[in-house]
Amino acid sequence: MSGPYYNGQKSEKCGCYYPDVHHFRDVPEENQRILRCITHGEYPVELGNVSKFSLEESIPSDKQLEKERERLRKL
Ligand SMILES: [Zn+2]
Repeated sequence: MSGPYYNGQKSEKCGCYYPDVHHFRDVPEENQRILRCITHGEYPVELGNVSKFSLEESIPSDKQLEKERERLRKL
């Protein structure tokens, strides 16, 4: 587990940080957003209550994750 990647970054429900946790899919009819964590797997959060990290619709590759971590560290 690592992060936060920039000052003031809030962890997601499982205690990990974007981009280690990223948006997987929404289930609006159940008011749920499924997040996918590289450590904890997929889990739902309330759709109206999710932090506003820049959402990637697709699942990033390891290389993309590493690039995103680098980018956030430089903020
Ligand atoms: Zn996690």
